[in-house]
Parts: sequence; structure tokens; C-alpha cells
Amino acid sequence: MAVRGIKSTRVVRPSGVGPAVVLVDGGVIAGVVPAAPPGVEVVDVGRLVVSPGLVDCHVHMNEPGRTEWEGFETGTRAAAAGGVTTVVDMPLNSTPVTTTRDALDAKLASAAGRCFVDVGFWGGVVPGNAGDLPGLAEGGVLGCKAFLVHSGIDDFPNATARDLAEAMPVLRDHGLPLLAHAELDLGAPVTDVTETSPRAYRGYLRSRPPAWEDEAIKLLVGLCRQTRCAVHVVHLSSASSLDTLRQAKDEGLPITVETCPHYLCLDAESIPDGATLFKCAPPIRERANREALWKGLFDGVIDFVISDHSPCAPALKLPDTGDFAHAWGGIASLQLGLPNVWTAARRRGASLTQIAEWMSARPAAFAGLGHRKGRIAAGLDADFVVWDPDAAFAPASEDLFFRHKVSPYLGAALTGRVRQTILRGVPVFDGTAHPAGPIGQRLLKRDAAREAS
Ligand SMILES: [Zn+2]
Repeated sequence: MAVRGIKSTRVVRPSGVGPAVVLVDGGVIAGVVPAAPPGVEVVDVGRLVVSPGLVDCHVHMNEPGRTEWEGFETGTRAAAAGGVTTVVDMPLNSTPVTTTRDALDAKLASAAGRCFVDVGFWGGVVPGNAGDLPGLAEGGVLGCKAFLVHSGIDDFPNATARDLAEAMPVLRDHGLPLLAHAELDLGAPVTDVTETSPRAYRGYLRSRPPAWEDEAIKLLVGLCRQTRCAVHVVHLSSASSLDTLRQAKDEGLPITVETCPHYLCLDAESIPDGATLFKCAPPIRERANREALWKGLFDGVIDFVISDHSPCAPALKLPDTGDFAHAWGGIASLQLGLPNVWTAARRRGASLTQIAEWMSARPAAFAGLGHRKGRIAAGLDADFVVWDPDAAFAPASEDLFFRHKVSPYLGAALTGRVRQTILRGVPVFDGTAHPAGPIGQRLLKRDAAREAS
């Protein structure tokens, strides 16, 4: 295939934003130059921004097994439509959960030939499976996730400190991070839960207080110090943990942190009672907490932003009763991360370069994919999102490619519209449809290790 170019007045590189032609050869970025050499076919996108494709390393595809919730085909179509060119799938809520090599192989088989973007996989740490972790590592997982609190499904039980102390040295020796859902069930003020209606968002919020996160994170910091296994705190919601995390990073511990669009863009004060589409764990907290999370992101205590796309069959959100206690917790948002975060970030003075850091470069590096993904630089995969950061729109259900066309963001006033998504040089989304078909490849650690060496 001949070298081709994509030209824009706003190409987002780690060094800044400016006019350039990105040369693409065989799916890889061949160079970034001021003008295309003679004879190179160039597509000029004008003032549309060319950013590195987003890397969303926290997605629940729920396949195999719970395909009535989501699936690789629908989920990766949504990813492509959102400018996401790489996703990493969580070890739950598929059936089986990805806690053994056999389960990983079943997942790889179910994803094969059906993905519209590139896909990596996390394995799972559950009580008693430390012996399965080497097999998962050899199978190519990029890391393994554990819950410190009930996961929401009984086939993925939470790990105790003792389970983690057993698993973490194994992960460390395989060069894999532990990802942790950081909440410890400390109990909640019973009166708050029982005295409010199950439809009251405030009751749900109080049932999972910041202390649950703060104590879990302290426990994880201690285990990290003890084992030197890399620890990643998924979906941080409680800003009161930021000091602990900052100190751990200052100490030099291998700790990273992510948060989600819903913690950065939404707030507890605005969630109507009975609106269970907003239920997730840990919960969306108050505005003051949200602003502290933004500060943590700008300061670098929070490393990056991922969707935690976790849809379910719509009936499980209990729309008729609006019962927060019993509705499934999880927010469907994979396709809408870029406009959500950009709309809120721009108001707070963020640049296009910062968006690329938070949503492409750092999640790619964390997942061990930084040598191929997450930046516009020579030698990396030609993964781009071409988008209009000034286009205002309100997401409508017919725009969504999720299996179920529901999201708490429907009708929101957003800015930043994806016009085209390019995966390894090939357009996989053109603004309305997916022209290339399911050309996504799997991204396995064993391949990554070989490529990087
Ligand atoms: Zn999740």
C-alpha cells in the first residue's frame, strides 16, 4: 500500500497542536511533516482536529455469556463511533468470568472477527485463583482486576487482603498490574438507607460513603508498598483519597489512578430520584467532590479518564420502580466519552493536548500498549479520531450503537462531534456508519512484549 497523508490545521501531538500532514504507510504512522512529499495522496480535513484514537481501557463487553447486555460487535461499533480505537475488556460480566486460561480462550474466541476496533483483555483475581494467574499471563492478559467489595455478580467474588497478598507477587513477576475496584464494605449509617425512599438518590449515595473508597485505597497502598506490584485504582470517585494517592506517588510507589466521565461531568445534586440510569459504584458524588477530582486530574494525581462502560438489559435498571437499592449499577457511555469530557474540560481551561494525554496516551501506556497506541508519532499505529471540537449536539438514542440505546447522557448539551475514526490507516467510522467492517485485532501482552523488544 502506498504512503498516504492526512492533513489538518490542528494535528494533536504530544508536543502541541498545529498544522501538519500525518503520513501513513501500511497502517503505521510513517512521519509527521509540514507538507506532503510530491506524489503522496493527501486527504485534507481542514480545521477538523486530528487527535490520536482514544484508548478506553475500562469497558465491559459482557461477552461471552451476557450478550443480552452488550457484546463485542455492538460495543466496538459504539467505540468506533466515539473515536475510540482501542478498548480493553474487563473480566466481568462475561460468563464465564475471565479468571482462568480457559475462560480467556473462550473470550478470545467470542471476540474473533467481530470487533470494529482493537481489543485487549484484563484477567480477574478472585479468591483462590493465584494459581491461574500465570496461565492468564501466558494467554496475553494486560493485567488483572480484583474487587475489594461485592462485584455485583456472584461468580466474581471479591478478594480479601490475604487473597491480594497472594496474587500480587505473581502479577508483579509477570510484569502485570493489579487493577482494583477500591471500595471496602464498612457498613453504612443504617438510618440513612432505611429512612429514605429506595427511589432517593441521596439514600443510595449515603449507602456507599467516601470512607469506603478511602479505606480501600489505604489498604492497596500498603499492599503495593509490601509487594511492589503495580496497582491501578479504577474509577476513583472519592476526592478525599487524593492526598493518600499523591503521597503514594511521591513515595515512588507504582500506583496509577483513573476516573470516569460520570464523576467529572455529573453531580449528585442534579440526579433526579428514581433515575437509576445514573446508578454506578462507587456513586456519583456532590459538586464539590467533582471539582476536587478535576483538580486531581489537572495536577496529575489522577492519570487518565476511561468510560467504565457497563450496560445491562434495560429492565435491570428497574425503570418502573426507580429502586436504587436493587437496580443494576453501571453507566453506558462508551460512545460519548470524548464530547462529555471535552465539554466539561474546555470550560475548565483544558487543551486538546491534555485531552489526548488523559484519553489516549496515558491509558495506552498503562495497558502496556504505549509503543503502538495513544500518540501521533512516527512508528505508532495510524489510529486517529477526526473531530469538530466546536460542533454542539445532544446525543439521541438513534445515534447510539450500544446494544441498548440508553444512556444518562441522552439529550445532554455537548460539544465535540466525531466525524471520522481511523484504525491502522483504515476508516472504521465515517460519521454515520462503519465502512470497513470488523477489522479490529486483539492486543495481547505476549505480542506487546515481543513488539516492544
Ligand atoms: Zn467497571
